[in-house]
Amino acid sequence: MKYFNEAAETMPLDQIRALQSEKLVKQVRHVYEHCAPYRRKMEEKGVTPDDIRGIEDLHKLPFLTKYDLRDEYPKGYLAVPQKDCVRIQSTSGTTGRRVVAFYTQHDVDLWEECCARAIVAAGGTAEDVVQVSYGYGLFTGGPGLNGGSHKLGCLTLPMSSGNTDRQIQFMMDLGATILCCTPSYAAYLGESLKEMGIKPEDNPLKAGIFGAEPWTEEMRETIQKSLGIKAYDIYGLTETSGPGVSFECQEQQGMHINEDHFIAEIIDPDTGEVLPEGSKGELVFTSLDKEAFPLLRYRTRDICILSRKKCSCGRTFIRMTKPMGRSDDMLIIRGVNVFPSQIETVLLKEGYAPNYQIVVDRVNNNDTFDILVEMDDELFGDTVSAITGREKALVAAMRAMLGIGPAVHLVAPHSIQRSEGKAVRVVDKRKLVTDSQWKG
Ligand code: ADP
Ligand code: ZN
Repeated sequence: MKYFNEAAETMPLDQIRALQSEKLVKQVRHVYEHCAPYRRKMEEKGVTPDDIRGIEDLHKLPFLTKYDLRDEYPKGYLAVPQKDCVRIQSTSGTTGRRVVAFYTQHDVDLWEECCARAIVAAGGTAEDVVQVSYGYGLFTGGPGLNGGSHKLGCLTLPMSSGNTDRQIQFMMDLGATILCCTPSYAAYLGESLKEMGIKPEDNPLKAGIFGAEPWTEEMRETIQKSLGIKAYDIYGLTETSGPGVSFECQEQQGMHINEDHFIAEIIDPDTGEVLPEGSKGELVFTSLDKEAFPLLRYRTRDICILSRKKCSCGRTFIRMTKPMGRSDDMLIIRGVNVFPSQIETVLLKEGYAPNYQIVVDRVNNNDTFDILVEMDDELFGDTVSAITGREKALVAAMRAMLGIGPAVHLVAPHSIQRSEGKAVRVVDKRKLVTDSQWKG
């Protein structure tokens, strides 16, 4: 089995463009008529549905951002009656920034097909046993791959994340052949198997589908070796359904975007100008088929490059690189979205001055997360035990805000280096994708 949906996945480019044009015209009308906040945005820009006659007019439409969605929380961008929806999912809980995505049954089907395509591209067939170790619940990872696996007809193990002993027991006892989880958890499972004395060739896995957070080519190597599998990338965001917007094929050279359902653009994040293919910039998605939450020109903030270079797998869909960074200051730490502004909020609330630095690194495939906070002279004079107590209190406050706990270090006054211009709030030592690794 080479493709889940051959007609779509190998469609010639002129047909893709024609299909996108036809769907875009309809989708713009649907959004304009059913989604008041977006209609207002179009009115502000002086655009009406009549101005959009095909993909060549896409650039006339206004952009959408996470802030727009947050302003209209929870239902402002819902474009069908709520009774027609069957599901919600939500972004990984950064307080005050949650986005709720709504799905009709049609939207769920479409999303699950995208995930089924990804499983087939990773070598999957109905014979496979798919272990889904992404979190289930509001997070899109578990439900997305679970649905894709069902659609393909695989035996699906809805493991969810955590409980590593049970993961390994079910993997071995039920003969899981495809593993779906975050790359950091895959690496952790690899280490755990090794500790248990199970060699890479002795587990039943043949492939893995890993995403939801950035990972490097080096990490791919580590995972492939430790689990004895081929490791494939999958990308997506809650706002566009979830994982499966794009996925890797056997080439392992960038992810094919499901262009029959999504239009991808690359823009200059500062000016909003659309950049030609091959440029590095911010990825923007327009969803063509979604009914309940049909976002047009949604700015992902992910920086990447698109390529239409012919792929040996036969798929004609454009490929994107792994995200190479973000155009905002959001960090993804252990799979959780973290904004420096949230950390600042906690510090100010707890009575500290905003002199801090966030240090993120990756050690043994696990993210480390440290926050250095300067004390003032008075605090600095405190006893060691008083300072330790304050650090503990800050860790608890950070955990409540962010959903994950950093290590907090109270440091001497003026010990964090001051920069001339903007403060260096974030030191991210994790080495992500570099341009030279992209051969697309
Ligand atoms: P959640 O953390 O619940 O998935 P989002 O939907 O906001 O929340 O996460 C989407 C973001 O996750 C993307 O914009 C991207 O930055 C990141 N992401 C998803 N898949 C990948 C991937 N394969 N590689 C790198 N980053 C990814
Ligand atoms: Zn391919």
